[in-house]
Amino acid sequence: MRDELLELTGALKNRVLSEQGARGGPSRMYFKGEVAVPSMPVDSEPVHAPSVTLEEIRAELGDCTRCKLHSGRNNIVFGEGNSRADLVFVGEAPGGDEDRQGRPFVGRAGQLLTDIIKAMGLRRDEVYICNILKCRPPKNRNPEPDEIAACEPFLVEQLQSLRPRVICALGKFAAQTLLKTDIAISALRGRFHSYHGIRLMPTYHPAYLLRNPGAKKQVWEDVQIIMKELQQEPEGGDTETR
Ligand code: URA
Repeated sequence: MRDELLELTGALKNRVLSEQGARGGPSRMYFKGEVAVPSMPVDSEPVHAPSVTLEEIRAELGDCTRCKLHSGRNNIVFGEGNSRADLVFVGEAPGGDEDRQGRPFVGRAGQLLTDIIKAMGLRRDEVYICNILKCRPPKNRNPEPDEIAACEPFLVEQLQSLRPRVICALGKFAAQTLLKTDIAISALRGRFHSYHGIRLMPTYHPAYLLRNPGAKKQVWEDVQIIMKELQQEPEGGDTETR
């Protein structure tokens, strides 16, 4: 009886693993002990998966061909910054400058994001910056659902590895993708939401601010809420470990 049970558990586990592999996502993710958790609600408690480093996640991504965007890209834009950052910015997708340089937010919108980070009293190398998509969509069009589905598992792993105190979702795509909602960014911004137990602040994308400078006031309100949060003693008092 025990042997039969063990065999059944093993077969089930293999099936789940091979389905994960067939989808091409990272095979480690979503596993909490022996149980597959394919679509965790975003406000659930954090998964304390075995810690995977950003380097390991980058290596697993490899020379990615999981979606159609690979054929038009010059560089994968994985993300950059401090692997122990308290604050992570998540944007939409690389643009032309980012695709050429292989770095996130280095064009005009990136300069504005750098200014926002400085205005928060931080440096770019103190935070971590990444995107929902790691390859540039043609002519900077909006990300498509199949592209998000192929790329998001790697972002989830990055966020699990980073475990920041706050995530700032830049713009509609980042906020709606991470929070699994289609509520407008104008309604989401201005307050913290929960992303697997991590505080997530949606705000307007810097590219939107270039077209609508009047919205800078709201972004400043949002980043002030983030700054206030970061100035507080971290829950569990783990200042020493970060
Ligand atoms: N816009 C984004 O969303 N991400 C970048 O990296 C650059 C521009």
